[in-house]
Amino acid sequence: MALQQISDTGILSWVCTGEGCGNQITTHYLDERVAYQQSVKRARDGFPRAVIALPACPECERQTALHADYTRRDILRLNVLKPVVNDIGLVQGFVMHLPHVRNLLLHHLLHQAGRIPHAPLLPLLPEQRTLHPWLQSLSRDVAHAFWFPYSLIDIAAQVPFEEYLMGLHGGRPLPPAVEPLQVRAPGAS
Ligand SMILES: [Zn+2]
Repeated sequence: MALQQISDTGILSWVCTGEGCGNQITTHYLDERVAYQQSVKRARDGFPRAVIALPACPECERQTALHADYTRRDILRLNVLKPVVNDIGLVQGFVMHLPHVRNLLLHHLLHQAGRIPHAPLLPLLPEQRTLHPWLQSLSRDVAHAFWFPYSLIDIAAQVPFEEYLMGLHGGRPLPPAVEPLQVRAPGAS
C-alpha cells in the first residue's frame, strides 16, 4: 500500500488494493480519518508497530494503512533504499523509494499539525537552505528521495548535500531531468 501523490495543497492520492477494485481515492491529509495508530501487537523484532490509517475505500470498504515510525533497522530491512552506482559499479550513495518518502512526508505533515506527537526518524530538507537550482527544480518527493538517505548516513556531517549529490553523478554537473535516477517503487522493474 502506497500513496501515489501528496499534492502541494495536501491532497493524498492512492489506488485501492481491494480485490478487483482499483478505485482511485483522494482526501486531504487533515481528514480526521487519516489516523496515526500504534498497534497493540508487537512485530517479531519486539518493537511496537505503528501505521497511518487511511479512510476506507467508498466502493469496497477496504481499509489500508501506511508504514509509520520507521526505525534505522526498518530502513535497511525493508529495502527502502536503492544504491546509486557509478560507471565502475561502486556505490556512490542511496536514493529512497518514493512510496517510503511519501510515508515519511505524511508523518511530518501530521506531526506539524499536532496529530502525531513525535517527528519521524529522518528530518525534512531544511527550507532555509540555499538550494542548488537543480534541487529547486525537483518535486518535494524526489528532493526528499535524495535528502532522507543523505540525512541517515554518517558522511552528512562532512560533505555538504550539494556535493554529495554531485558525487552521485560522478562529479558531473547535475542534469535538468526531474527524475534523473529513475526513482522507482519497490518491486517495479
Ligand atoms: Zn476499493
